[in-house]
Amino acid sequence: MQRAKYFFNFFYIILSLLFPLAGREIQLQDKLSRATVGTLYSVEIGVHSFIPIEKFAQALSIPIEQNIHLKTVSLNVKENRITFIAYTPFVRFNNLEYQMSTEVRFPNLEFYVPLADFVDGLNKSGIIAIEYDETNYILYVMTRPPNIVRLSTQCKNDTTRLILHTTHPFKDSDISTRAEKDWLYININDGVIDINDDVSSEQIPQVFEFVPLQVAQDQARVSLHLAPNVSLLHVHCNEGAFEIVITMRAAAAAPSAALTFLEKEREKWKIDTIIIDPGHGGRDPGCVGPSSIFEKNITLAVAKATRQEIERRMDVNVMLTRDSDSFAALKSRTKKANEAGGKLFISIHVDANRVKSLRGHTVYFLGPAKTDDARDVAQFENSVIQFEDSQNDYASLSDASFILAANAQNSYNKESQDFAAMVDQEIKSQCGSRSHGVRQAGFYVLYGASMPNILIETGFMTNSQDRANLNSPSYQKALAKAITNGIIRFKDRYESTTF
Ligand SMILES: [Zn+2]
Repeated sequence: MQRAKYFFNFFYIILSLLFPLAGREIQLQDKLSRATVGTLYSVEIGVHSFIPIEKFAQALSIPIEQNIHLKTVSLNVKENRITFIAYTPFVRFNNLEYQMSTEVRFPNLEFYVPLADFVDGLNKSGIIAIEYDETNYILYVMTRPPNIVRLSTQCKNDTTRLILHTTHPFKDSDISTRAEKDWLYININDGVIDINDDVSSEQIPQVFEFVPLQVAQDQARVSLHLAPNVSLLHVHCNEGAFEIVITMRAAAAAPSAALTFLEKEREKWKIDTIIIDPGHGGRDPGCVGPSSIFEKNITLAVAKATRQEIERRMDVNVMLTRDSDSFAALKSRTKKANEAGGKLFISIHVDANRVKSLRGHTVYFLGPAKTDDARDVAQFENSVIQFEDSQNDYASLSDASFILAANAQNSYNKESQDFAAMVDQEIKSQCGSRSHGVRQAGFYVLYGASMPNILIETGFMTNSQDRANLNSPSYQKALAKAITNGIIRFKDRYESTTF
């Protein structure tokens, strides 16, 4: 019996190696109605199942773009773009790149993607809820339905209420507001907005324009162009009634006083204080290179050069979380930043890797790690808490709870990601450094910063050329210039009204 079974397994493996196209039939079903919307034939190679991604997209009417020359295929799902590259394990999700457990196969010019990774990735992104029943070979799919579905208005005397009707209760903590010029932006975490265009043409007192927008898969935004006489405005959730209510009152006179609400909101968001966080310090050296090159010294030098560059070119306050070779607990760094009213948080670090040939920079923002590499880097940077007296403060920050931590920060996620992308481009062009892209990972030092925040791994201590660069004042200056360019670009974009 045993022997027969071994033999069977043996033949199965040989057969699957010889005839990798021998796959199975997978039903594609709508999760709610259980109706079959298509059939896919998988390819089985070793332990992996691969599905033909173009057929999957066709079955769900997802627009696709192929580039046979570059060997890429992109799925355009709502505002999101998912790109696979043949013969590589990489998938690009909007501007972020993730690594799957195996490469995309490309037999007969058709893209086959690893099923398990694909299902996992789509679920984590929140764009499409998808489930694979591996016993019955059924793929259940549900695109995320809108949960902010209708707008109504109530007007009484000088008070106007805009009511966003939702399909599930939102909490006040899901809502954040921001004002720029005459616009008020209301961000709704976990919101999927689908409000018909006809309401925007409707006359709403005190509102010139109403713009509903899906800014990310997990964030909806309502933008209001307000009349200058709006004097009182607040946003809150009627949880029981499934409503988000925006209340406005028009001032009878004195337009100067009328602007106070928007002015106050605007002041709150002006990028006037920038926090630079030189990684490590004191008894925590960070990563260490030969001939006593310490990460903590490089990060301090780059931070100081950046402060100088910012002060030379911008009219803002700059604060360093440490000014000398002293130890600072991770938590105290963001606390300091929040207390100083920081509007941008930039943590500076130096990377290390077992692969000595690895060079270049990576810019991170806070979020659950999507690749093992990103997780390794975060783990190393987080390990400095061993130098701190009280480690219990961080005990609950496991990888899973980072998802919650990152969610709590969602109102800055989009900004942090934008800022990270700008700094990444600037370092690439100013320093001629190889970009490892913008990534997300769970860094303790970013957790708790109530402002857009990024962490820059400026280069590799373990690579001799990177190390020599990072240790030289001229390269440190180039980094400072690149970071400052990024800040200026972000400030220009962020403080303007256009979205
Ligand atoms: Zn570090």
